[in-house]
Amino acid sequence: MRPARMVLPAGVSSAVFARALSELRRVVGAQSVLAEPEELAPYRKILIPAAADEYAPSAAVLAATVEQVQGVLAVCNRFKVPIWPISTGRNFGYGSAAPATRGQVILDLKRMDQILNVDPELGTALVEPGVTYAQLHDYLRDRSIPLWIDFPGGGPLVGPVGNTLERGMGSTPYADHFAHACGMEVVLADGRVLRTGMGSLPGSDAWQAYRYGYGPYLDGVFTQSSYGVVTKLGLWLMPAPAAYRTVLVQYPEERDLGRAIETARPLVLGGTIRNPCRLRNATLMLTALYRRTDLYQGEGPVPQSAILEAARDHGIAPWNLTFSLYGTLEQIAPNLDIVTRAFASSGGQVTADYHDGAQANQLELDAFSLLNWVGGGGLVWLSPISAARGVDALRQDAIARSILFRRGFDYLAAPTLSGRSLNYLVPLVFDHGDAQALERARMCFLELLQAFADNGFGLDRVGIDFMGHLARRYGEVNRDVNRAVKRALDPNGILAPGKSGIRT
Ligand code: ADP
Repeated sequence: MRPARMVLPAGVSSAVFARALSELRRVVGAQSVLAEPEELAPYRKILIPAAADEYAPSAAVLAATVEQVQGVLAVCNRFKVPIWPISTGRNFGYGSAAPATRGQVILDLKRMDQILNVDPELGTALVEPGVTYAQLHDYLRDRSIPLWIDFPGGGPLVGPVGNTLERGMGSTPYADHFAHACGMEVVLADGRVLRTGMGSLPGSDAWQAYRYGYGPYLDGVFTQSSYGVVTKLGLWLMPAPAAYRTVLVQYPEERDLGRAIETARPLVLGGTIRNPCRLRNATLMLTALYRRTDLYQGEGPVPQSAILEAARDHGIAPWNLTFSLYGTLEQIAPNLDIVTRAFASSGGQVTADYHDGAQANQLELDAFSLLNWVGGGGLVWLSPISAARGVDALRQDAIARSILFRRGFDYLAAPTLSGRSLNYLVPLVFDHGDAQALERARMCFLELLQAFADNGFGLDRVGIDFMGHLARRYGEVNRDVNRAVKRALDPNGILAPGKSGIRT
């Protein structure tokens, strides 16, 4: 194994890299270029089942202004140094702050952390990449602005820019973060600054109000891509509702999953339920209460009998579905009747006033309690997508269950219905410090990815270690178009090579 000190960008000699680093120091200041192994350690730490050394960065540059970002890109173009932008750099279970290939320089934007504007009347915000959801939440609370934050699955310490660019999901009616983004500022590889939508029209004050502007709607191409560095993002924030009630529906049998989806879909499409319906299986619910060794000390997955027994002790069902009703109390009351009747007649047991802070603008810091289930800090997410149909949910359940059990892992599942689609979220947790467990997790992940794709369920996001693999499943035309855009916008291929499997 090469020592971390020797990490270089692919195809760049140590002499050329030294010159590039000294130019980068001129742009951002010597203190803001990190190249010592101990300074880079935080950027190497990953949770996914891969060897950190394969994804080790060569340096990190902390830019504090748009002009510095432009200067950094100019240096990278001159010396053909690849650069990997991150915002808050958490990206837990997908590669954290590490780049898709060894030797890229990290462009860390966490110092660009200004909330540039919040418009309380329109319910809009404009933020820089380093802003976190918790920061935005506190800003609104301190000023008594009655707007809600939609916290993502990764919790409040990640930021709207990184999460929206990855098309992350939250829990309120504004859960689809990209669908509630409005206007971007993007530094292109050649240093020009593009403001999307109305931001391109001098004098417009509708940049955060109207998403499309004129001509092709470009914002999408800057998500999950490597086509630019996003330095500002507009967001829509939900007006705080007068009231809300969070509902729990529990199904007594594992096979009730399909029925739960079939019942939820018309309620969502008809607008009675406006936020995602998230199901959790018993094992996932138990991760908040136990470590797996509390229930079972043997090899392989915790036996289903032990899971179901512990679940019963805590009033947890095989499937537990939650959503919330928002509005005035007068609006909520008839809607609660409608959903109660619908779920009860499909065999679900309905409880109103369940607690789920993420559905109600509450800051909760324990988003990753599931890491304690096994211990050892290994986590990777699978998020196969299907149409929101009960039969598809049951097929995904069968695939996940059989492969995980055969390979000795517990089956944690959080299938989430939003609108017409179902994201069958499965976290795979393992001991990252145990080389054998890590390899088993990696093989299990790969088998799951392939089995899902073979059945037409494509993942919508993947860690740095499987980006090329997943991109190939989406076919050649898709790859060719992505590459053509890449070549047009970043001819030297300096921006995040390998991101989403895209290269020049
Ligand atoms: P979070 O901390 O919210 O999980 P990250 O900051 O880790 O998000 O960003 C997730 C991914 O999104 C990064 O790995 C990178 O590929 C991409 N990304 C993040 N910020 C930017 C940005 N400002 N411009 C372009 N791509 C970005």
